[in-house]
Amino acid sequence: MKTGLIDVDGHNFPNLALMKLAAYHRQNGDTVEWVNHLERYDKVYQSKVFTFTPDVSTVIQADETVKGGTGYKMYGELFCDDVEPDYSMYPKVEHAYGFLTRGCVRHCPWCIVPKKEGGIRAYRDVETVLQGRKTAILMDNNVLASEHGLQQLEKIADLKCKVDFNQGLDSRLVTDDIAQLLSKIRWIRFLRFSCDTTPAVEPLLKAIEKLNRYGVKNYRIFVYVLVKDVTDANERCRILKKLGVNPFAQTYRGYESNTQPTREQKHFAWYVNQKAVFKATEWENYR
Ligand code: SF4
Repeated sequence: MKTGLIDVDGHNFPNLALMKLAAYHRQNGDTVEWVNHLERYDKVYQSKVFTFTPDVSTVIQADETVKGGTGYKMYGELFCDDVEPDYSMYPKVEHAYGFLTRGCVRHCPWCIVPKKEGGIRAYRDVETVLQGRKTAILMDNNVLASEHGLQQLEKIADLKCKVDFNQGLDSRLVTDDIAQLLSKIRWIRFLRFSCDTTPAVEPLLKAIEKLNRYGVKNYRIFVYVLVKDVTDANERCRILKKLGVNPFAQTYRGYESNTQPTREQKHFAWYVNQKAVFKATEWENYR
């Protein structure tokens, strides 16, 4: 079978589902390639992660086209989820990509994870994700809420591989023991958290204090800041700036309602994420 793949969001970040589909079809003797719009395919898989990415507008020549991903508001599990990804689809990728746990214990109203994945559950061992690589981008939504996740963090520290939990860790779950464990891990660049609302500030500050006690410096801490009310988001960013922590502003987008960010929200996110501008001036002066 001639199989074609389309990564609708582009090739900057490897699409795990497409890499698994490539592995599955190759194991079954099929050919797999990125879609060439001049060619015809038996089956084409089209994956989109972000709702805001425009869909493919060119004609696809295929007997069957299968769309999937949160970008299409399709939340079902991949039929070949057990297969390990085929990285040859993204030859420039150096890190391993994957999850140790799926789901989350919380129900933040803006987040699709509880609906898409349900409660927290064990998923993979870090060595399975690494596939012999020394670094991994782990996309877990709340690894600290899982006993398996904590065991995997111990293993990561023992293996001395470098990791990045790129979705952020839950600061409310950082106990003294967890702070010590996190301080033993080799991070690719940052230890990431989220601070999406004002009530999230206090637990974040407590987590930072505990991490500091075990030698983690604030410049290694990166915090996603959800931008809905700009004044409120600015206050959170100012607190982080004073500490020397790195905030990253993300504008609010409703998954179901298709809410688009306002001009002011986009402008504020630009200001925060241009580090030189953010460090040099306050939002009130910049605006
Ligand atoms: S803690 Fe994070 S992953 Fe869990 S529901 Fe809230 S935003 Fe989503």
